Amino acid sequence: MKLGRDARFSTICLHAGQEPDQATGAIVTPIYQTSTYVQEALGRHKGYEYARTQNPTRSALEGNIAAMESGTTACAFASGMAAINAVATMLQAGDHAVVSDNVYGGTFRLFDKVLSRYQLSFAYVDTADLAATERAFTPATRLLFVETPSNPVMRITDLGEAASLAHRHGARLVVDNTFASPAIQRPIELGADLVMHSTTKYLNGHSDSVGGVVVATRDEDAAWLKFVQNAAGAILSPFDSWLVLRGTKTLPLRMAVHSANGLALAEMLAGHPKVRHVLYPGLPSHPQHALARRQMRGFGGMLAFDLGSLEAARRLLNAVHLMSLAESLGGVETLISHPATMTHASVPADRRAALGITDGLVRISAGIEDIDDLKEDLHQALDNV
Ligand SMILES: *Cc1c(COP(=O)(O)O)cnc(C)c1O
Repeated sequence: MKLGRDARFSTICLHAGQEPDQATGAIVTPIYQTSTYVQEALGRHKGYEYARTQNPTRSALEGNIAAMESGTTACAFASGMAAINAVATMLQAGDHAVVSDNVYGGTFRLFDKVLSRYQLSFAYVDTADLAATERAFTPATRLLFVETPSNPVMRITDLGEAASLAHRHGARLVVDNTFASPAIQRPIELGADLVMHSTTKYLNGHSDSVGGVVVATRDEDAAWLKFVQNAAGAILSPFDSWLVLRGTKTLPLRMAVHSANGLALAEMLAGHPKVRHVLYPGLPSHPQHALARRQMRGFGGMLAFDLGSLEAARRLLNAVHLMSLAESLGGVETLISHPATMTHASVPADRRAALGITDGLVRISAGIEDIDDLKEDLHQALDNV
């Protein structure tokens, strides 16, 4: 199997990083469940010494995701948060980072409660507003950390403009691409220096693994991240690496259905009298629909809508049958959640209000069920509101 230099995205998802097993010809990369590797002679080995440092299943996944994101190198970690923590080690005491104001709650917690103890400082700003973002830069800013679309209000940051801005200030642009996945958005192609994912979500896609990955483009960043991966040791296990590799093979197929179902649910909700407004970048009513069209290929499976009150949201959430009330996203099953009391409960109420995370807001991660079953479930649940 030889992957051509100009192979297209679905082919890359299936084949990049993987060769038939050298020992047996197995077409699927085996789970190399080992802690160490026998050396042929003193100082002579096959490139594998100890499994925190190198593991063939993990290497296959890293090659696979690096190619999917158009980067040069990827490092897989035990969770999305471990991946973000590794990126943060690029900062040194005294450094500053500018961060999207509605980043994933765990990212905010890591920066605000842990890393701020190490003389690092963070400014939170609506990165969809580039002028405000530029004003947040200081001479010490080394990273611009962006999440787009943002969770759960689906704000879109212009990645090409964000990359130019960061580079004008001598900073790196890091993009958390978990919500879109590389099937829909490839930030490195738009100028980003680093991309990270919680592989727990769309890349694995089957709600049965927790993991993370960072993709780099510059040799010095790649070398540092590899060094930190080994030095701090928060690696992805061989079995989880194998699960995510299985997931990425069908990513383009799954994302096409997630996007189609997301759009269909958004359209249905937008026409429903009990729904105040719908937040989905694929709707022409989304204030940044034109930008989303430019930088995304499809709009993904994440949407949110406002029912006006906590009581209305509660009635809906308690009435769904097919959709599961749960945190997380990106799996094949449709999940429904209440950001204000679930994923964003740790965000102070005034901050939630400023971000648009109202008590009536409900978030859906559209799965790949038959759309008519999803619509019927939502219709009957809305009848209870
Ligand atoms: C889930 C998530 C994370 C954290 O990933 P874990 O795998 O849960 O550690 C980071 N960013 C985004 C956007 C996420 O959805």
